[in-house]
Amino acid sequence: MKHFDIIIIGSGIAGMSLGSIISKARNVAIIEKEKELCYHSTGRSFAFFIESYGNKAIIELTNIAKKFFYKNFDLFLKKKGVLFIGNNNQKKLVEDFYNEHKNKIKLEIFNKKETLKLANCIDEKYINNSVLDVNACEIDVNNLYEHYRKNLKHNDGSIFTDCRINSTKYTNNRWIINNEISCNTIVNASGAWADEVAKIFNIKPVNVIPKKRTVFVFKPINLNVENKWPLVADIEEKFYFKDQNEQIYASPADETPSYPHDCFPDDLDVAVGIDRIQKSTVFEFNNIQHKWSGLRTFVNDKSPVIGFENNKKNFFWLVGQGGYGIQTAPALAEISANLILGKKNKFLSKSTMTNISIERIRKKILWWS
Ligand SMILES: Cc1cc2nc3c(=O)[nH]c(=O)nc-3n(C[C@H](O)[C@H](O)[C@H](O)COP(=O)(O)OP(=O)(O)OC[C@H]3O[C@@H](n4cnc5c(N)ncnc54)[C@H](O)[C@@H]3O)c2cc1C
Repeated sequence: MKHFDIIIIGSGIAGMSLGSIISKARNVAIIEKEKELCYHSTGRSFAFFIESYGNKAIIELTNIAKKFFYKNFDLFLKKKGVLFIGNNNQKKLVEDFYNEHKNKIKLEIFNKKETLKLANCIDEKYINNSVLDVNACEIDVNNLYEHYRKNLKHNDGSIFTDCRINSTKYTNNRWIINNEISCNTIVNASGAWADEVAKIFNIKPVNVIPKKRTVFVFKPINLNVENKWPLVADIEEKFYFKDQNEQIYASPADETPSYPHDCFPDDLDVAVGIDRIQKSTVFEFNNIQHKWSGLRTFVNDKSPVIGFENNKKNFFWLVGQGGYGIQTAPALAEISANLILGKKNKFLSKSTMTNISIERIRKKILWWS
């Protein structure tokens, strides 16, 4: 039977980034149930790095990840900016957003005329004001993922695709999977399947909710798309769009609670998205060229869940990355690797460490039960 120090379940960006780092110090295998890598959320994202996005813990994690991304800026990032826009009813929300983040993040606030100068695809009858998050970037997810995959391979890490877990048992301080491979530590990095995987190992779930998000692509017939606009996002995250490869990639920012599965876009979500884009922009288009959907998986407080179950060293959680799993991956991988190797995470504040810990989930579940 082949033995590993660590088996990581899930080859998305979470599993691959951790595998890449920890394989320097430990003998690691990644198990993936699909035939292909990146088949689920990691291969379906909008690929953005936004420092002002998410709750306090996400902002801190993104800030830590920034150091990694900026070391190899041209390989991983392309500066584009995000323009958070408001109509007449949202004027104050735009101002509040600016005031909340202006001291920590490079922001510029614009009136109607200035906004239209920056993105002439927005309808002047719709727009009131906007805030530009100047340093927001597009992430080259492919380059990022390949960087991690190559490192894992370089460190002699193994990847098993098309590998279904049919049985597990824990004996002599070892997990045995399918009576074929064994390890000392399991890492659950299975995204939307986090609770299902936990159950296979007889571990209590953390109650993740996979939420479906849709993306559709069109080519405007009335405007040239020259890759010069920032990503444009409604200040209340009811829709957003970006220009890429002479097309517009748009989302209704849907968050439909779902279950772990290979999801497909719903026509109604695409129709809602089209309606929101048509009300706020001057785009005219005849057809949708491409569409997809993916799962963004959260626990209740929308922070990730990291750490050893019960402080035992045999089952580690790396789940609940929600809509921020690409931009926070370098930080979460490093923090997780340090926890697994028994090293300190000096760069993360104590409060954020608590807010992303498995312990805070267990305390809440005990409290409510
Ligand atoms: C439409 C959309 C837009 C997004 N935009 C952004 C963005 O702009 N920026 C950002 O940072 N994030 C974004 N995200 C979120 C980001 O994509 C996710 O947070 C991230 O990909 C999660 O990575 P993961 O590795 O946890 O999950 P996944 O990529 O889903 O990987 C989990 C893997 O585990 C495997 N698995 C499950 N069960 C088993 C099992 N029993 N055995 C073996 N393998 C198993 C699955 O097959 C899967 O391959 C977006 C997501 C979506 C859907």
